[in-house]
Amino acid sequence: MEDIARLFDIHKNTVRSWLKHGLATIDDRRPMLVLGRELSRFLHERRQKAKQSCGPGRIFCIACRAPKVPAEKMADCTATGPLAGSLCGICPDCDRLIYRRVNLAKIDGVRGELEITFTQPRLRLGESDVPSVNCDSSQKG
Ligand SMILES: [Zn+2]
Repeated sequence: MEDIARLFDIHKNTVRSWLKHGLATIDDRRPMLVLGRELSRFLHERRQKAKQSCGPGRIFCIACRAPKVPAEKMADCTATGPLAGSLCGICPDCDRLIYRRVNLAKIDGVRGELEITFTQPRLRLGESDVPSVNCDSSQKG
C-alpha cells in the first residue's frame, strides 16, 4: 500500500479508499499486496467511469456541476442535424433547463429511463395551415 502511495505520490488513505472501491488485494494478509495489473485495471475502470459519469438517462447540469436525471424523467429531443440532436430537460434540484447533445443513432443508449418527446426544431414556412388567431377581443363590436 505504501509503495502504491509513493508510486502515485498520493496519501495512503487514497489507496485505502481505492481498496474500499473495488481494488482487489492478493489476499487478506498484511501487508496488503496488490498486483500491478489489478491496479492498472482498477485505475482504467475508474477513469472510464469518470468519463461516463453522465450515463444513460442523465443530463449534466452546469449549475449543479453534476449529472442529473431530469425532473419527471422527461426530456425533449430536438433534432439539430441529420444525426444530431439536443436533449433538454429540467434539473430536479435547481429547476434550470439542462441540455445534452446526443447522437440520434445512439439515442437508445442515452435514453435510460427517460421519456423522450421528439420535437421538430420549427415548422417550415408554408407547412403550417393553422390560421393565425386574433386574441384581441376588444376590437370586436
Ligand atoms: Zn441543477
